[in-house]
Parts: sequence; C-alpha cells; structure tokens
Amino acid sequence: MVDVVVMKAVGADNLKHADAARKILGENQVVGINLISSPGAGKTTLLERTIKDNPDLKFGVIEGDVFTDRDASRIVSAGAPAVQLNTEGSCHLTAHMIEAVLNKFNLKELDFLIVENIGNLICPSGYDLGENLRVTLLSTPEGSDKVRKYPAAFDSAGLVLITKNDIADVVGFDFAIVADDLAAVNPDVKSIRVSTVSGEGLDKWYECLRKLVDLRDSGEIPKAFKF
Ligand code: MG
Ligand code: ZN
Repeated sequence: MVDVVVMKAVGADNLKHADAARKILGENQVVGINLISSPGAGKTTLLERTIKDNPDLKFGVIEGDVFTDRDASRIVSAGAPAVQLNTEGSCHLTAHMIEAVLNKFNLKELDFLIVENIGNLICPSGYDLGENLRVTLLSTPEGSDKVRKYPAAFDSAGLVLITKNDIADVVGFDFAIVADDLAAVNPDVKSIRVSTVSGEGLDKWYECLRKLVDLRDSGEIPKAFKF
C-alpha cells in the first residue's frame, strides 16, 4: 500500500508555494528535482534504475498522475519512499501540492526529493515546484522534432535526458536536429543519451546527481541549476 493523496491543481500563488517548498527542502539538506516529459518517455523506469544503482544516495519520490498509484508502487518496490499525488483530471502538478505532502517524508534522511510530474510537455513547464533542478526527458520514439514544438518544456530545463537510446536507430531518431533545436531554445544545456535497457549513459546521469550532492555538502544548494 502506498500513500495516495488526491489534490486539484491550484495555480494561484504558485511561486510562493514553490519557494516555501524549496526552503523546507533546503533546511533539510535535500535537493529537489522536477522530472518533466510526455507520457511513456521512461520517467518511472529511470527512477527505478537510479534508486537501485545508487544505494548510497537516499531518494524520496512524489509521483504525479491523473489516476492510479501504479508509479508510486513501482518506486516503493525499487526501495525508496514514495507518495502518489492523483489530480483526478488536472494535467500538471502545482507547488502547493508538493508543499502539502513534504511532511509525509522523513526529509532528514533524504538526499533527493524527486517529483515525477504528470506526463505532459505543455503546462507542467509553467509551474515551479520548488525544485533545484529541472530535468526534461525526450524519448527517441517520440521523434526528434519535439524540442521546437514544445519549447517551454526544454527552455527551462537544467538538464535534458534523451531516453530509450537503445532504439534510436530503429525509430530513425535524428540527434543533430535535437542538438540544433536545443542550441536555439536553451543554449549550452547539457544533454545525455541514456538507456535503461543497455545502461548506456546512466553513469553520466549519476555523475550529475553526485555533483548536486557535492554542491549541497559545500553549503549551496542552487536554485534553477543548469548543467
Ligand atoms: Mg511514470
Ligand atoms: Zn496542465
């Protein structure tokens, strides 16, 4: 059984709630990450693998979905505490939801609080959830044209993960188009090609997580960090 909280998105005062959530996380030495992608890009699978591959890092996960506790159950099975937020219709999470469920975690024991946003490349990008780093995922079967079509999901990202790299050739994914488009909408943002099937690139993603832990340990958890 996982904790399921039903909440509707409330847009008012989002930044106020985001800053409040970020403050609580910072006081507890927890780095906040907001994962954004379309449905099926592999957010939950990446988190399962990340949790299992890094037993020395302590993760808590807030799973956002319209319905079901399926993703939170997967995270708990992978070995990390998780809370499921169900919006029952809303297509994005807002910061007041995050702030409201932080007390369900033992924050003192965590290094990271990761929010898996609702699968959607449109409105989630408009809501700061109190994160320190925003990670946008693009999976190769979605097509290489998505950065320009959904620029808001990519221009605010501090890191881009290109997922399902193991099938990039099969689906004809064009990395050059993505590189050009990222250069236009978010110059110099780091992008990493990963696959949870072959394991490729995961070490680079884990290096990014460890860099954030180092920054935290040196006394500054950054806001809107960009790799
Ligand atoms: Mg998921
Ligand atoms: Zn929405």
